[in-house]
Amino acid sequence: MRLFIAIELNDEIKAALRKAQGALSAFDRAVRWVTSDQMHLTLKFLGEVPDARVEEVTAAAGRVAQASSLFEMVVGGCGCFPANGRVRVVWVGLNEPSGTLAACNDLCEARYAEIGFDRERRTFSPHLTLGRVRDDRTGGKLREAVEGTRFEPLRQTVESMCVVQSTLTPHGARYAIIARHALTVA
Ligand code: ATP
Ligand code: MG
Repeated sequence: MRLFIAIELNDEIKAALRKAQGALSAFDRAVRWVTSDQMHLTLKFLGEVPDARVEEVTAAAGRVAQASSLFEMVVGGCGCFPANGRVRVVWVGLNEPSGTLAACNDLCEARYAEIGFDRERRTFSPHLTLGRVRDDRTGGKLREAVEGTRFEPLRQTVESMCVVQSTLTPHGARYAIIARHALTVA
């Protein structure tokens, strides 16, 4: 099954993300917006995992969680990937002053590399995907609108991380949480 490691978002943040999508509704035809139940923060994408290895993968996430402290993140600020040219992904960024999220991502990379998963080559740039664009023909208008969208900063205390199964369908990905591991209280 297709798996990734993620952090769930609270309802207040999801509502704010929907509001940001609403503010960009002029681009509804260009962008495939993610639905509320798809909103998340990806820590590590694992890809296809044989059924026989799911338990091992889940246990590894448990060890990462145990070695990570709970932390606070501040969500806010809209942007696009890539940084220039045609937009592929519209996102909301986040700050995480404690550095715990980055440390948690490092731990994931190390643990999963140990058990044979590819390390991510790109540097970790934590973001919440708002929407995806197949073919941006807006001539820069979408980027301009995204970069001009206000998003009042919101806080969330992150207390757990999840192993998520993703099923790709013609209507987008369906996610199901198969394990949730508590982070450690410092
Ligand atoms: P779709 O692929 O239909 O657009 P999706 O991207 O939401 O849907 P998945 O492709 O299963 O669903 O991805 C699950 C999560 O992992 C998403 O947050 C996605 O951005 C991230 N992800 C997917 N592929 C990679 C990859 N190769 N490297 C890093 N992150 C990835
Ligand atoms: Mg994808």
